[in-house]
Amino acid sequence: MTIFKKIIDNDIPSKVIYEDEKYLAFLDISQASKGHTLIIPKDETESVLTASVETVAEMNVLAQRIAKAFMKDFGAKGVNILTNAKEIAGQTVDHYHIHVLPRYDENEINFSFKENKVDLDKLHHDIKEKLNI
Ligand code: 5GP
Repeated sequence: MTIFKKIIDNDIPSKVIYEDEKYLAFLDISQASKGHTLIIPKDETESVLTASVETVAEMNVLAQRIAKAFMKDFGAKGVNILTNAKEIAGQTVDHYHIHVLPRYDENEINFSFKENKVDLDKLHHDIKEKLNI
């Protein structure tokens, strides 16, 4: 059982900002930015890779609602919405969650994408050949 299941069951406290039958949104304990929120489904599933299409869709619609509310009602100037899947990608809790990170200043969070030198034509060719989307 994950820590998020304990939050759903009210076995440990959390700062809930939205709840309905299927989803819960509460403040992340680490607050990477002011109002950093986690959205989770009440039904346990490991990540975006295992969740149903319906759950993924509804979670993202809820993320948009919460993001827009932070913009309109809480002074956010922008927002990052992200999910991590698997340890290599930074997932530390194995219960699907979306981070909503309201942004106010430029430097609260630094997502830096390093530029890699690749043969883009070859990479594109390989991906098109192999991927069944
Ligand atoms: P991940 O790294 O898996 O994408 O994100 C997990 C998040 O859960 C982290 O940002 C971490 O701060 C948050 N978290 C872990 N344990 C708790 C907890 O007990 N309560 C709350 N509110 N957040 C937690």
